[in-house]
Amino acid sequence: MKILSIETSCDDTGVSILEAKGGVKSPSFRVLANNLNSQVNIHIPYGGVYPVLAKREHAKNLPIVLEASLKQAKLTHDNKPVAPIRGREGSQRPSASNGIDAIAVTYGPGLEMCLWEGITFAKDLAKKWKVPLIPTNHMEGHILSVFGKDKGTFKIQKLQTPTLALLISGGHTQLVLMKKPARLNPARPILSGWSRSGGWMDYEIIGETLDDAVGEAFDKVARMLDLPYPGGPQISKLAESVREKENKVFRGRNFSAEKFTQSSGRRLAESPQNLFSFSLTKQQAGLLRERSIAQAGEPSIANFQQKIMRAESAQKSSLLLPRPMLRSKNFDFSFSGLKTAVLYLIRDLGGIKNISEETKSKIALEFENAAMECLVYKTAKAIETYKVKTLIVAGGVSANKYLKSEMKKITKHKVKLLFPTKELSGDNSIMIGIAGYLNYVKLARRGGNKKGVNNLKATGGLRL
Ligand code: ADP
Ligand code: MG
Repeated sequence: MKILSIETSCDDTGVSILEAKGGVKSPSFRVLANNLNSQVNIHIPYGGVYPVLAKREHAKNLPIVLEASLKQAKLTHDNKPVAPIRGREGSQRPSASNGIDAIAVTYGPGLEMCLWEGITFAKDLAKKWKVPLIPTNHMEGHILSVFGKDKGTFKIQKLQTPTLALLISGGHTQLVLMKKPARLNPARPILSGWSRSGGWMDYEIIGETLDDAVGEAFDKVARMLDLPYPGGPQISKLAESVREKENKVFRGRNFSAEKFTQSSGRRLAESPQNLFSFSLTKQQAGLLRERSIAQAGEPSIANFQQKIMRAESAQKSSLLLPRPMLRSKNFDFSFSGLKTAVLYLIRDLGGIKNISEETKSKIALEFENAAMECLVYKTAKAIETYKVKTLIVAGGVSANKYLKSEMKKITKHKVKLLFPTKELSGDNSIMIGIAGYLNYVKLARRGGNKKGVNNLKATGGLRL
């Protein structure tokens, strides 16, 4: 069957057409069309996504992106194959394409006003073409993105469970545990017929950020460092430029999550504060502790400043940043304190205008190390706790090189590691098509109806 998929949850307008077959048992796909219009340049002056502008751009771009995709897949606006192509001998050869059989659209989570643009557009098309609409969860899409490609063919591999997914983007930081395929639960119909009680797998969110998403922290810290939006790739580039040099200076300090899975590292895992003191001077460890404690306790700004000032006089040139929540017993994250720590660090150094390019790079490195250590450490802990066999890392931040290399270390030989290709790490409509197909075949089996089309609503805070 052919699935047209639409993604407008944030600042990317995506429309793809996938030829899908194999059902839930052995799903395989061919990309017939894939078009993504990124609004990054429009949002640069605002240092982040400006929702009203994003909504307007989606409205403007959706017809353009659809047009391009229909053309690529050789379909007309009436959802018919284009005129038969002439064969080499001049004979009439029917086009390989039939029409679109279903439309998958992201209905959450994301910016509601942006989601609505995609949903309204999809509803109109579904009515016009008389095909079913498949409400698709953006996060399920990110999980499935690791199997996709932006062109050619691909298959969904059989997953060894338990599988853990670390979903990291501008809007989310979640650890999701999957133990078995989802069973349709008729007791939980949500969209009158198009139930979300199914999905591809049973999802259990075992940990998530309590405040900012990690991608958001990257973007905000980049802004503090006078780097353009989106900040992730910019910070990462600066960090890489000094990582090698810095590693030599602070040899032991360069965190290796591998240690957690070795028995000698277990002690460290139990009291992670040792992680930072084992290779630091007393003074450095003290400063780090002061900063961590200052943030853990949500102190007043004055209190926090006092501590920082004291710490500052102890060691003026230190660029150490805290690793928030590393000591917590759960799998949750927090990045807003880390972000604030960078703000104060920059202020303590005399403001960004007085910071040399070299120091800026070092701050970028320290921030990237701190953020990634939190992700890697909690993931390693979850792998051990749940005896995880497959690790999926997806979402925009999964494009980070350092994260990938650290994840390779903690999964080596034991856990299968899956990352999306660079093209599919950020938001895209291919992943929505994959998730859409898997949900469609499940629901079609149950005799899903089309009534849900009219009830479909944008759900900004949708959960897995
Ligand atoms: P969302 O779904 O929240 O819009 P995406 O999945 O498109 O987000 O991811 C975008 C986020 O990924 C941005 O915050 C961006 O800074 C971050 N990002 C992209 N590349 C990298 C990288 N190499 N390192 C860290 N963060 C990155
Ligand atoms: Mg996303």
